[in-house]
This record gives sequence, C-alpha cells and structure tokens, in this order.
Amino acid sequence: MTAEQTRVQPPLPHPSPISAPYWEAARRHELRIQRCVICRQHVFYPRLNCPACGSQQLDWVIASGRGTIYTYTIARRPTHPSFAGRTPLVIAIVELDEGPRMTTNIVGCDPDSVQIGMPVEAVFDDVSPETTLVFFRPASQGGP
Ligand code: ZN
Repeated sequence: MTAEQTRVQPPLPHPSPISAPYWEAARRHELRIQRCVICRQHVFYPRLNCPACGSQQLDWVIASGRGTIYTYTIARRPTHPSFAGRTPLVIAIVELDEGPRMTTNIVGCDPDSVQIGMPVEAVFDDVSPETTLVFFRPASQGGP
C-alpha cells in the first residue's frame, strides 16, 4: 500500500439546499455570502432568515474576500487523523470586511506570526473535484 492509499480522508461538507450556493461559488474560487434585500445586512453562515430583521429575502453577493483575524488558536496536535502532517494548524475566526465572521484556517504563513487584527485575504483549496474549502492568508501588501 502506498501512503496515498492509506491517507485518511478529511471531513468534508455536505451542502444543503440553503448552503449549496456558497459551495458552488467556492468551486469557482468566489467567496459568496448572503445579503438581506430588506435591511442590507450581510449574512454568514448561509440561512433562510436574516438574523437582523427576520426577512426571508436574502440574495447571494460576491464578498471582497478580505477581512481581519478576530481570534485564533493554534492546534499543535491533529484534531482529526486527516490533519496529521498539517500541524501546527491555525484555526481562526475571520471578520469579513462586510461584517460577518467565518471559522476557517490561516494558511501560507508561520503560525507564530499570526496576530489578532491581522489583515487577511481568502484563498481557495480544491480538496476534491466536488469540494473547495475557503481559507485565509495574510493580505498581500501594496497594489496588484
Ligand atoms: Zn435583514
């Protein structure tokens, strides 16, 4: 058996009718979140009702993909067998520029360099043909 055959599959999402647009957008490497048609508040995680006004009129919009680290922890032991070899793993809550907070991982940097308030940007990890996960990395400095 090769290492590939013995690798444990990571836990993957099971999109619901409510969350499917989020996962379909992620596959296109777009970060989409909901926005209330009535009160204009951005909403994440995906749901049926606006948490601010109760409206069921929620549109899907493309988010900037930018935010700041609201809080984080560093997992130094794998919290799932599939995470073996990926530690230390930064588990964070990122506050999007649009307002909502997302639980995610911070990638592409030294975990010990992560700080609360650090500007970050979304990156997309195609973990399978069907599933793309949204992580964040330190925001690039300067212009394009
Ligand atoms: Zn609303």
